[in-house]
Amino acid sequence: MAKADADAASPLFDKVALIGIGLIGSSLSHAIRRKGLAPTISGSARSAETRETAQRLGLVDEVFDNAAAACQDADLVVLCSPVGTFAAIAQEIGPVLKNGAIITDVGSVKTAVINDVAPYLPAGAHFIPGHPIAGSEVSGPESGFAELFDDRWCILTPTDKTDPEALSKLVHFWEQCGARVDLMDATHHDLVLAVTSHIPHLIAYNIVGTASDLEAVTESEVVKYSAGGFRDFTRIAASDPTMWRDVFLNNRDAVLEVLGRFSEDLAALQRAIRWGDGDMLFDLFTRTRDIRRNIIDAGQETPVPDFGRRGPGKVDD
Ligand code: NAP
Repeated sequence: MAKADADAASPLFDKVALIGIGLIGSSLSHAIRRKGLAPTISGSARSAETRETAQRLGLVDEVFDNAAAACQDADLVVLCSPVGTFAAIAQEIGPVLKNGAIITDVGSVKTAVINDVAPYLPAGAHFIPGHPIAGSEVSGPESGFAELFDDRWCILTPTDKTDPEALSKLVHFWEQCGARVDLMDATHHDLVLAVTSHIPHLIAYNIVGTASDLEAVTESEVVKYSAGGFRDFTRIAASDPTMWRDVFLNNRDAVLEVLGRFSEDLAALQRAIRWGDGDMLFDLFTRTRDIRRNIIDAGQETPVPDFGRRGPGKVDD
Protein backbone atom coordinates (compact mmCIF):
# COMPACT_ATOMS: atom_id res chain seq x y z
CA MET A 1 0.00 0.00 0.00
CA ALA A 2 1.18 3.50 -0.76
CA LYS A 3 2.01 6.04 1.91
CA ALA A 4 0.14 9.34 1.73
CA ASP A 5 1.49 12.37 3.57
CA ALA A 6 -0.15 14.61 6.16
CA ASP A 7 -1.67 16.81 3.44
CA ALA A 8 -3.94 13.94 2.42
CA ALA A 9 -7.37 14.39 0.86
CA SER A 10 -9.70 11.41 0.48
CA PRO A 11 -8.84 8.98 -2.33
CA LEU A 12 -10.51 9.76 -5.66
CA PHE A 13 -9.59 6.43 -7.26
CA ASP A 14 -8.81 2.98 -5.86
CA LYS A 15 -6.10 2.36 -8.42
CA VAL A 16 -4.32 4.65 -10.86
CA ALA A 17 -2.19 3.18 -13.66
CA LEU A 18 0.67 5.28 -15.04
CA ILE A 19 1.78 4.07 -18.45
CA GLY A 20 5.30 5.49 -18.75
CA ILE A 21 7.17 6.64 -15.64
CA GLY A 22 9.37 9.50 -16.80
CA LEU A 23 9.29 13.17 -15.78
CA ILE A 24 5.50 13.50 -16.06
CA GLY A 25 4.57 10.00 -14.84
CA SER A 26 6.84 10.24 -11.78
CA SER A 27 5.65 13.78 -10.99
CA LEU A 28 2.06 12.55 -11.13
CA SER A 29 2.95 9.75 -8.74
CA HIS A 30 4.44 12.25 -6.28
CA ALA A 31 1.39 14.52 -6.63
CA ILE A 32 -0.98 11.57 -6.07
CA ARG A 33 0.98 10.46 -2.98
CA ARG A 34 1.11 14.02 -1.65
CA LYS A 35 -2.67 14.19 -1.36
CA GLY A 36 -3.46 10.48 -1.00
CA LEU A 37 -5.53 10.55 -4.19
CA ALA A 38 -5.25 6.77 -4.72
CA PRO A 39 -4.18 3.97 -2.36
CA THR A 40 -2.61 2.01 -5.21
CA ILE A 41 -0.48 3.21 -8.12
CA SER A 42 0.56 0.73 -10.75
CA GLY A 43 2.95 1.53 -13.55
CA SER A 44 4.56 0.21 -16.68
CA ALA A 45 7.77 1.21 -18.44
CA ARG A 46 9.79 -0.16 -21.30
CA SER A 47 13.18 -0.62 -19.64
CA ALA A 48 14.05 -2.72 -16.61
CA GLU A 49 16.13 0.21 -15.35
CA THR A 50 13.12 2.56 -15.22
CA ARG A 51 10.98 -0.11 -13.56
CA GLU A 52 13.64 -0.73 -10.90
CA THR A 53 14.08 3.00 -10.26
CA ALA A 54 10.31 3.52 -10.01
CA GLN A 55 10.11 0.79 -7.41
CA ARG A 56 13.15 1.97 -5.47
CA LEU A 57 11.71 5.51 -5.27
CA GLY A 58 8.28 4.21 -4.23
CA LEU A 59 6.64 5.78 -7.28
CA VAL A 60 4.58 2.64 -7.88
CA ASP A 61 3.14 -0.12 -5.74
CA GLU A 62 3.39 -2.55 -8.62
CA VAL A 63 5.26 -2.26 -11.89
CA PHE A 64 5.10 -4.20 -15.15
CA ASP A 65 6.87 -4.41 -18.47
CA ASN A 66 3.54 -4.18 -20.31
CA ALA A 67 0.73 -1.67 -20.13
CA ALA A 68 -2.11 -4.23 -20.07
CA ALA A 69 -0.93 -5.75 -16.79
CA ALA A 70 -0.66 -2.31 -15.18
CA CYS A 71 -4.22 -1.41 -16.26
CA GLN A 72 -5.92 -4.43 -14.68
CA ASP A 73 -8.63 -3.10 -12.32
CA ALA A 74 -7.43 0.50 -12.68
CA ASP A 75 -10.09 3.23 -12.28
CA LEU A 76 -7.86 5.85 -13.85
CA VAL A 77 -5.29 5.16 -16.58
CA VAL A 78 -2.89 7.96 -17.55
CA LEU A 79 -0.77 7.54 -20.69
CA CYS A 80 2.56 9.20 -19.85
CA SER A 81 4.82 7.92 -22.66
CA PRO A 82 5.75 9.73 -25.92
CA VAL A 83 2.66 10.36 -28.09
CA GLY A 84 4.00 8.12 -30.88
CA THR A 85 3.52 5.12 -28.56
CA PHE A 86 -0.15 5.76 -27.74
CA ALA A 87 -1.82 3.85 -30.59
CA ALA A 88 -0.03 0.58 -29.78
CA ILE A 89 -0.65 1.05 -26.04
CA ALA A 90 -4.38 1.75 -26.58
CA GLN A 91 -4.63 -1.38 -28.71
CA GLU A 92 -2.95 -3.37 -25.96
CA ILE A 93 -4.98 -2.07 -23.01
CA GLY A 94 -8.40 -1.80 -24.72
CA PRO A 95 -9.44 -5.41 -23.95
CA VAL A 96 -8.48 -5.30 -20.24
CA LEU A 97 -9.94 -1.94 -19.22
CA LYS A 98 -12.39 -1.98 -16.33
CA ASN A 99 -15.93 -0.92 -17.14
CA GLY A 100 -16.32 2.75 -16.17
CA ALA A 101 -12.55 3.41 -16.07
CA ILE A 102 -11.34 6.88 -17.04
CA ILE A 103 -8.56 6.90 -19.63
CA THR A 104 -6.57 10.08 -20.09
CA ASP A 105 -3.14 11.11 -21.31
CA VAL A 106 -0.59 13.89 -20.87
CA GLY A 107 0.50 14.09 -24.50
CA SER A 108 1.58 17.42 -25.94
CA VAL A 109 -0.72 17.12 -28.98
CA LYS A 110 -4.38 16.24 -28.92
CA THR A 111 -6.04 15.70 -32.32
CA ALA A 112 -3.62 12.97 -33.41
CA VAL A 113 -3.82 11.33 -29.98
CA ILE A 114 -7.61 11.18 -30.16
CA ASN A 115 -7.40 9.57 -33.61
CA ASP A 116 -4.80 7.10 -32.35
CA VAL A 117 -6.40 6.09 -29.06
CA ALA A 118 -10.21 6.37 -29.29
CA PRO A 119 -10.77 3.56 -31.83
CA TYR A 120 -9.25 0.95 -29.51
CA LEU A 121 -11.16 1.76 -26.32
CA PRO A 122 -14.27 -0.19 -25.25
CA ALA A 123 -17.67 1.52 -24.98
CA GLY A 124 -17.64 1.35 -21.16
CA ALA A 125 -14.41 3.37 -20.83
CA HIS A 126 -14.38 7.18 -20.59
CA PHE A 127 -11.63 8.68 -22.73
CA ILE A 128 -10.81 12.30 -21.83
CA PRO A 129 -7.60 13.59 -23.42
CA GLY A 130 -5.42 15.96 -21.39
CA HIS A 131 -2.20 17.97 -21.38
CA PRO A 132 -0.55 19.49 -18.33
CA ILE A 133 1.33 22.62 -19.42
CA ALA A 134 4.21 21.93 -17.08
CA GLY A 135 7.51 20.27 -17.64
CA SER A 136 11.16 20.80 -18.36
CA GLU A 137 14.02 19.52 -20.46
CA VAL A 138 14.86 16.74 -18.01
CA SER A 139 13.54 13.20 -18.39
CA GLY A 140 13.21 9.94 -16.53
CA PRO A 141 11.71 8.65 -13.27
CA GLU A 142 14.22 10.44 -11.03
CA SER A 143 13.41 13.88 -12.43
CA GLY A 144 9.81 14.09 -11.16
CA PHE A 145 8.59 16.15 -8.18
CA ALA A 146 5.20 16.70 -6.56
CA GLU A 147 5.06 20.45 -7.20
CA LEU A 148 5.49 20.25 -10.98
CA PHE A 149 1.81 20.93 -11.64
CA ASP A 150 1.22 23.49 -8.86
CA ASP A 151 -0.47 26.59 -10.34
CA ARG A 152 0.19 25.36 -13.89
CA TRP A 153 -2.60 24.90 -16.37
CA CYS A 154 -3.83 21.49 -17.40
CA ILE A 155 -5.92 21.48 -20.59
CA LEU A 156 -8.56 18.78 -21.04
CA THR A 157 -10.21 18.32 -24.43
CA PRO A 158 -13.57 16.60 -23.84
CA THR A 159 -16.27 16.45 -26.52
CA ASP A 160 -20.04 16.88 -26.13
CA LYS A 161 -20.23 13.07 -25.83
CA THR A 162 -17.94 13.02 -22.77
CA ASP A 163 -19.61 11.72 -19.60
CA PRO A 164 -20.02 14.79 -17.31
CA GLU A 165 -19.41 12.79 -14.13
CA ALA A 166 -16.15 11.32 -15.45
CA LEU A 167 -15.08 14.78 -16.62
CA SER A 168 -15.76 16.41 -13.27
CA LYS A 169 -13.83 13.61 -11.52
CA LEU A 170 -10.82 14.13 -13.79
CA VAL A 171 -10.97 17.92 -13.34
CA HIS A 172 -11.01 17.38 -9.57
CA PHE A 173 -8.07 14.97 -9.85
CA TRP A 174 -5.91 17.53 -11.67
CA GLU A 175 -6.92 20.26 -9.24
CA GLN A 176 -5.86 18.02 -6.36
CA CYS A 177 -2.53 17.53 -8.18
CA GLY A 178 -2.13 21.31 -7.91
CA ALA A 179 -3.15 22.36 -11.43
CA ARG A 180 -5.70 24.82 -12.76
CA VAL A 181 -7.89 23.19 -15.38
CA ASP A 182 -9.10 24.60 -18.70
CA LEU A 183 -11.39 22.84 -21.18
CA MET A 184 -10.65 23.31 -24.86
CA ASP A 185 -11.40 21.93 -28.29
CA ALA A 186 -8.59 19.56 -29.40
CA THR A 187 -7.87 21.39 -32.68
CA HIS A 188 -7.65 24.70 -30.89
CA HIS A 189 -5.31 23.16 -28.30
CA ASP A 190 -2.97 22.03 -31.07
CA LEU A 191 -2.85 25.52 -32.60
CA VAL A 192 -2.31 27.27 -29.26
CA LEU A 193 0.46 24.85 -28.27
CA ALA A 194 2.08 25.15 -31.69
CA VAL A 195 2.48 28.88 -30.92
CA THR A 196 3.43 28.66 -27.24
CA SER A 197 5.51 25.51 -27.17
CA HIS A 198 6.16 23.63 -30.39
CA ILE A 199 7.51 26.48 -32.54
CA PRO A 200 9.68 27.83 -29.67
CA HIS A 201 11.20 24.35 -29.36
CA LEU A 202 11.73 24.16 -33.12
CA ILE A 203 13.45 27.55 -33.09
CA ALA A 204 15.69 26.45 -30.21
CA TYR A 205 16.61 23.20 -31.96
CA ASN A 206 17.31 25.16 -35.13
CA ILE A 207 19.45 27.93 -33.64
CA VAL A 208 21.53 25.48 -31.63
CA GLY A 209 21.94 23.31 -34.74
CA THR A 210 22.92 26.35 -36.84
CA ALA A 211 25.49 27.52 -34.27
CA SER A 212 27.08 24.11 -34.13
CA ASP A 213 27.33 24.04 -37.94
CA LEU A 214 28.84 27.55 -38.36
CA GLU A 215 32.42 27.10 -39.46
CA ALA A 216 33.42 30.74 -38.86
CA VAL A 217 32.66 30.41 -35.13
CA THR A 218 34.42 27.60 -33.32
CA GLU A 219 32.55 25.30 -30.96
CA SER A 220 34.64 26.48 -28.01
CA GLU A 221 33.58 30.09 -28.73
CA VAL A 222 29.92 29.05 -28.85
CA VAL A 223 30.29 27.50 -25.39
CA LYS A 224 32.51 30.26 -23.96
CA TYR A 225 30.26 33.17 -24.98
CA SER A 226 26.92 31.36 -24.59
CA ALA A 227 25.64 33.78 -21.91
CA GLY A 228 24.79 36.22 -24.74
CA GLY A 229 21.45 34.45 -25.24
CA PHE A 230 22.45 31.16 -26.83
CA ARG A 231 22.58 29.38 -23.47
CA ASP A 232 18.85 29.91 -22.88
CA PHE A 233 18.10 28.23 -26.20
CA THR A 234 20.35 25.27 -25.36
CA ARG A 235 18.22 24.48 -22.31
CA ILE A 236 15.13 24.05 -24.47
CA ALA A 237 17.13 22.28 -27.19
CA ALA A 238 18.25 19.71 -24.60
CA SER A 239 14.65 18.40 -24.38
CA ASP A 240 14.00 14.73 -25.01
CA PRO A 241 14.53 13.90 -28.73
CA THR A 242 11.92 11.10 -28.84
CA MET A 243 9.20 13.17 -27.23
CA TRP A 244 9.83 16.14 -29.51
CA ARG A 245 10.16 14.10 -32.70
CA ASP A 246 6.72 12.68 -31.88
CA VAL A 247 5.27 16.14 -31.17
CA PHE A 248 6.29 17.47 -34.60
CA LEU A 249 5.18 14.36 -36.46
CA ASN A 250 1.80 14.45 -34.70
CA ASN A 251 1.03 18.17 -34.81
CA ARG A 252 2.16 18.70 -38.38
CA ASP A 253 -0.71 20.86 -39.66
CA ALA A 254 -0.76 23.37 -36.80
CA VAL A 255 3.04 23.58 -36.68
CA LEU A 256 3.29 24.20 -40.43
CA GLU A 257 0.56 26.84 -40.25
CA VAL A 258 2.29 28.77 -37.45
CA LEU A 259 5.70 28.24 -39.03
CA GLY A 260 4.45 29.89 -42.24
CA ARG A 261 3.41 32.95 -40.29
CA PHE A 262 6.68 32.93 -38.32
CA SER A 263 8.72 32.84 -41.54
CA GLU A 264 6.83 35.85 -42.93
CA ASP A 265 7.43 37.82 -39.73
CA LEU A 266 11.10 36.83 -39.76
CA ALA A 267 11.40 38.07 -43.34
CA ALA A 268 9.89 41.40 -42.24
CA LEU A 269 12.52 41.67 -39.50
CA GLN A 270 15.24 40.83 -42.00
CA ARG A 271 13.97 43.64 -44.23
CA ALA A 272 13.85 46.10 -41.31
CA ILE A 273 17.48 45.33 -40.43
CA ARG A 274 18.57 45.58 -44.08
CA TRP A 275 16.86 48.98 -44.58
CA GLY A 276 17.73 50.38 -41.16
CA ASP A 277 14.09 50.55 -40.01
CA GLY A 278 14.87 51.09 -36.31
CA ASP A 279 11.28 52.14 -35.48
CA MET A 280 9.96 48.79 -36.61
CA LEU A 281 12.51 46.92 -34.51
CA PHE A 282 11.95 49.15 -31.47
CA ASP A 283 8.13 48.81 -31.67
CA LEU A 284 8.31 45.03 -31.88
CA PHE A 285 10.81 44.70 -29.03
CA THR A 286 8.60 46.94 -26.86
CA ARG A 287 5.53 44.78 -27.54
CA THR A 288 7.41 41.57 -26.77
CA ARG A 289 8.61 42.98 -23.46
CA ASP A 290 4.96 43.58 -22.50
CA ILE A 291 4.15 39.93 -23.18
CA ARG A 292 6.85 38.87 -20.72
CA ARG A 293 5.33 41.22 -18.12
CA ASN A 294 1.88 39.74 -18.74
CA ILE A 295 3.23 36.22 -18.18
CA ILE A 296 4.77 37.29 -14.86
CA ASP A 297 1.52 39.05 -13.85
CA ALA A 298 -0.41 35.85 -14.65
CA GLY A 299 1.75 33.91 -12.16
CA GLN A 300 3.31 31.71 -14.84
CA GLU A 301 6.86 33.02 -14.25
CA THR A 302 8.72 35.06 -11.64
CA PRO A 303 10.60 38.29 -12.34
CA VAL A 304 13.72 36.79 -10.69
CA PRO A 305 16.59 36.45 -13.18
CA ASP A 306 16.91 32.83 -14.30
CA PHE A 307 20.27 32.54 -16.09
CA GLY A 308 19.15 29.09 -17.19
CA ARG A 309 20.07 27.52 -13.88
CA ARG A 310 16.75 27.33 -12.08
CA GLY A 311 15.65 23.87 -10.89
CA PRO A 312 12.09 22.60 -10.45
CA GLY A 313 9.10 24.58 -11.65
CA LYS A 314 10.12 25.54 -15.16
CA VAL A 315 7.28 25.63 -17.65
CA ASP A 316 8.25 24.52 -21.07
CA ASP A 317 5.56 22.54 -22.62
P1 NAP B 1 10.21 10.81 -20.30
O1 NAP B 1 10.72 11.40 -19.03
O2 NAP B 1 11.17 10.55 -21.42
O3 NAP B 1 9.46 9.43 -19.94
C1 NAP B 1 8.82 8.65 -20.91
C2 NAP B 1 8.35 7.35 -20.29
O4 NAP B 1 7.67 6.60 -21.31
C3 NAP B 1 9.45 6.45 -19.77
O5 NAP B 1 9.04 5.79 -18.59
C4 NAP B 1 9.62 5.42 -20.90
O6 NAP B 1 10.10 4.17 -20.44
C5 NAP B 1 8.20 5.27 -21.37
N1 NAP B 1 8.14 4.77 -22.76
C6 NAP B 1 8.87 5.19 -23.82
N2 NAP B 1 8.56 4.49 -24.94
C7 NAP B 1 7.61 3.61 -24.55
C8 NAP B 1 6.90 2.59 -25.23
N3 NAP B 1 7.12 2.35 -26.54
N4 NAP B 1 5.99 1.88 -24.53
C9 NAP B 1 5.79 2.13 -23.21
N5 NAP B 1 6.45 3.08 -22.51
C10 NAP B 1 7.34 3.79 -23.16
O7 NAP B 1 9.04 11.69 -20.93
P2 NAP B 1 8.11 12.82 -20.26
O8 NAP B 1 8.81 14.12 -20.32
O9 NAP B 1 7.58 12.32 -18.97
O10 NAP B 1 6.96 12.90 -21.37
C11 NAP B 1 5.91 11.95 -21.38
C12 NAP B 1 4.69 12.52 -22.10
O11 NAP B 1 4.36 13.75 -21.49
C13 NAP B 1 4.89 12.81 -23.58
O12 NAP B 1 3.76 12.37 -24.29
C14 NAP B 1 4.98 14.32 -23.65
O13 NAP B 1 4.44 14.80 -24.87
C15 NAP B 1 4.15 14.74 -22.47
N6 NAP B 1 4.55 16.00 -21.84
C16 NAP B 1 5.87 16.27 -21.60
C17 NAP B 1 6.23 17.46 -21.00
C18 NAP B 1 7.67 17.80 -20.75
O14 NAP B 1 8.02 18.99 -20.64
N7 NAP B 1 8.56 16.84 -20.65
C19 NAP B 1 5.23 18.37 -20.59
C20 NAP B 1 3.88 18.04 -20.81
C21 NAP B 1 3.55 16.86 -21.43
P3 NAP B 1 11.69 3.89 -20.38
O15 NAP B 1 12.24 4.87 -19.38
O16 NAP B 1 11.75 2.51 -19.89
O17 NAP B 1 12.20 4.11 -21.76
